[in-house]
Amino acid sequence: MSQSRNQSTESWSAPDAEPVVRIEKVTKRFGEIYAVDDLSLDIHRGEFFSLLGASGCGKTTLLRMLAGFETPTAGRIFIDGQDMTEVPAYLRPVNMMFQSYALFPHMTVAQNIAYGLKSDPPDREGRSARVSEMMAMVKIEALATRKPHQLSGGQRQRVALARALARHPKILLLDEPLGALDKKLREQTQFELVNLQERLGITFIVVTHDQEEAMTMSSRIALLKDGRIEQVDSPRRMYEFPSTRYAADFIGSINLFEGHVISHSNDMAVIHCEDTDSDIIVHHSQPLASGMPVTVAVRPEKMRVNTTIEADQNQLHGEIKEIAYLGDVSIYHVDLPGGKRIQFTQPNMLALAEQPLTWGQEVQLTWHPNGCGVLTQ
Ligand code: ATP
Repeated sequence: MSQSRNQSTESWSAPDAEPVVRIEKVTKRFGEIYAVDDLSLDIHRGEFFSLLGASGCGKTTLLRMLAGFETPTAGRIFIDGQDMTEVPAYLRPVNMMFQSYALFPHMTVAQNIAYGLKSDPPDREGRSARVSEMMAMVKIEALATRKPHQLSGGQRQRVALARALARHPKILLLDEPLGALDKKLREQTQFELVNLQERLGITFIVVTHDQEEAMTMSSRIALLKDGRIEQVDSPRRMYEFPSTRYAADFIGSINLFEGHVISHSNDMAVIHCEDTDSDIIVHHSQPLASGMPVTVAVRPEKMRVNTTIEADQNQLHGEIKEIAYLGDVSIYHVDLPGGKRIQFTQPNMLALAEQPLTWGQEVQLTWHPNGCGVLTQ
């Protein structure tokens, strides 16, 4: 999984840092449905913050409450220390870029961008200069006189972005900003969006259901489930140290083994796994009581095929049942003697015909105690 961000300046981890957005115990109910449920969250200046989660988890509703298009049923929203809960959308220092882009079909690119400015700057020259600046920023100067139907999906996305940024909002809210683009363009645009955000220093809050996209672009991610926060963390921590089974399963692929704690000392836990009828050793610094039911989580890329058994490594034996060739890596599905299916990945260093692993082959998989985690929730 790729990460493009320099995470050396973690403003959110400074104890006295003032958040630019504070969401305080916010609930939004539609009849009997709790779209957002008693949710609290701080977002800091200059963050590229993603709201991630499965369909219906409440991420769009939360974004719309930040924009002022929905009013919370309970709780408060502060922007730059000011209570925004009752402030109408047009008076908030935020702008929203919609998934549909919502461009006016009868207006040219330049007119669409200028529309967002209304009378700020007040003079025509000032507004025209701002439109030119925005078009240059997203590299669409050559398209100024075209109408939206004369543009590609990627070009329309840039116009919508330029329009949303034209008023220099403190915070830009983006609802699935790359949803309408094909995979290749999406990946390319992810990097452009990150570069643009870093250059402008504006706080971006993005709704996405695509975990790879969130991992690539974000300084931090809030994973939502049923209107609540499951975990808030940097992409790296979210991937390496998921705090719950749900988070582990949602982000990337993972092997989960149910078991219970046999012993725990010097940050090393021995877990007996019922699925494999074997012990797994895991590095874990938090206290674990003997007998406690836990799940051991191992990412597929942490497992290696090994011909020799090393004393400090965990190991499992199984038979390769399926191979998915993805070009750069292959995913191997392995059946363990008890019937459980697990997966591991390997980079394809050799051409396919020369790969030493094949269907039906018995393999010994090993991984280090630092290459797996214990989940207690
Ligand atoms: P998706 O990724 O599918 O857009 P989401 O995470 O953005 O999903 P929301 O659109 O915030 O989810 O919806 C959260 C819940 O609230 C869903 O169960 C949805 O059906 C419900 N909901 C959202 N808006 C309304 C509304 N105006 N009236 C009734 N229920 C609504």
